Amino acid sequence: MHYNIQRVLAYVGIGSNLGDPVSIVRDALICLDHIPDSQVKKYSSLYQSEPISDIPQDDFINAIAGIETSLQPTALLLELQSIEDAFYRRRDPALKWAPRTLDLDIILYGEHTIDNGQLSVPHPEMANRLFVLQPLMEIAGDIQIPGLGDLQHLVDSAPVIEISKIDC
Ligand code: ADP
Ligand code: MG
Repeated sequence: MHYNIQRVLAYVGIGSNLGDPVSIVRDALICLDHIPDSQVKKYSSLYQSEPISDIPQDDFINAIAGIETSLQPTALLLELQSIEDAFYRRRDPALKWAPRTLDLDIILYGEHTIDNGQLSVPHPEMANRLFVLQPLMEIAGDIQIPGLGDLQHLVDSAPVIEISKIDC
């Protein structure tokens, strides 16, 4: 589907738990601002959260950016994937299947609901992920999530994890 909208405020979730995650998340914010036809309008603090996984691994650093864009959602996804690729390439080529250093997800694309096989927006896991909801609350506290309602309500009912804002 094609969205005839000039500019949309999209929210992008940023996560990293490999390498130097604080620097990676900061660098990712700069990269997001360089996406064509797009501009970072706001971004959250950085948060440290415990991984939701049975595999032992380091805590995550998470943040959310609000990006004003005239890109279509699929074009925005491709841009995010090429930023992810740029970060993966820094890793040792011998570690071909190593975990990724950066995950960029489209959490919201304006007030649109998208489900086209390649992209599901709002992000289908957002209601279960306090590491998405809490930073989003910081920069967009009063928004309504399409199909899910009040953001504050989602924060209150999300599974509890350890998460804290970091000073940096
Ligand atoms: P995850 O984010 O769940 O760790 P990946 O980043 O590897 O997984 O993404 C896998 C696929 O998820 C991508 O190829 C993309 O097409 C799809 N996808 C579906 N919805 C979204 C979304 N809202 N944001 C980012 N990727 C999405
Ligand atoms: Mg992803």
